[in-house]
Amino acid sequence: MTAKIRWALIGASTIADEWMVDAIRSQPDGEIVTVISGSAERARGFAEKNAIPSHSTDLGSVLADPSITAVYISSTNDRHLSQALAAAKAGKHVLCEKPLALTEDEAAQMIEACESHGVKLGTNHHLRCAATHRKIRELIRAGAIGMPLFVRVFHAVSLPPHLRGWRIERPEAGGGVILDISVHDIDTLRFLLDDEPVEVSAMTSSGTMSSAGLADGVMAIVRFRNGVLAQLHDAFTVPFAPTGLEIHGTTGSLFAKDVMTQRPVGEIALNTADGMQNIQIEHRDLYCTAVAQFHRAISGDQNPAATGADGYRSLVAALSLMKSAEAGEHVTVPSRFAE
Ligand code: NDP
Repeated sequence: MTAKIRWALIGASTIADEWMVDAIRSQPDGEIVTVISGSAERARGFAEKNAIPSHSTDLGSVLADPSITAVYISSTNDRHLSQALAAAKAGKHVLCEKPLALTEDEAAQMIEACESHGVKLGTNHHLRCAATHRKIRELIRAGAIGMPLFVRVFHAVSLPPHLRGWRIERPEAGGGVILDISVHDIDTLRFLLDDEPVEVSAMTSSGTMSSAGLADGVMAIVRFRNGVLAQLHDAFTVPFAPTGLEIHGTTGSLFAKDVMTQRPVGEIALNTADGMQNIQIEHRDLYCTAVAQFHRAISGDQNPAATGADGYRSLVAALSLMKSAEAGEHVTVPSRFAE
């Protein structure tokens, strides 16, 4: 019988409650042992609601338990660094939510700590686990649209009322639309195009929903190394727009509807000289796919769906968008881990 992968959840969060508890439990070898929160009451409530056998406010004592294999970090973004470093030091594999951290240096520290302690680091960029995006990547690689030239991402949504806390109020917790949504767009495009962003330009809006100067909307242009120009439109403030993605190449265009989402839905059409063709998709839960791949990474035969380096690179490009918007200038994306 395969040994169980025993998880500790770090963070009594919405994403864990809505998606990740089920995703871990859907794995034949996945087991959730405990949940850790900054609040004893929240920890207890979360454990009761999700039938988790124990709960704690003491990260150190949980990490000292040798039977725990891995941690899933879904606290606010400002806590990812310290929790990941502690988990790595204790020899636990780390699946961390995005954005991996708040700065380039923090993300690099997380990668280095996991490498030096011999544990896997994954970033929970779920979109690259969507059947839709995997199909788009496959089509691009097979030459279905020729050479990709332009991308347009439509990811302006309405932030659900129960998430209107730190994201729109607390810069120090890593709030704002760029670290919340644009970082996903960038990671998805890196995955689809197999390419890295090199230059960005962005303008933000704020104050419709957000406070403390945080951006609640952004329009940006990203240039990739191979020359592709991508346009991103992300927002917390748009209640009636569908999400989507278009990729235009020299011999075809891909139109993907309802694909920038947590749900296993969406449609893809390919338009070429042969006409418009709907592409068949076999949808599967994105988070189950991500956890399954993380389990295989722990067993040693592959990387997590998004590695620590992916989290780093996507974060660095997102931070470049923030810098561009603040400075009113194009910004070159740093490339410390770019290859
Ligand atoms: P939540 O606000 O639900 O949870 C974040 C933290 O806030 C929790 O860890 C908890 O701290 C604290 N918290 C939760 N509820 C309360 C409350 N009622 N009062 C006070 N504090 C509370 O955030 P999300 O689940 O939306 O996001 C968590 C992380 O996951 C972020 O890094 C985010 O970027 C990421 N995320 C990723 C998604 C993806 O699809 N990959 C989707 C959504 C979020 P404590 O741990 O101390 O209990």
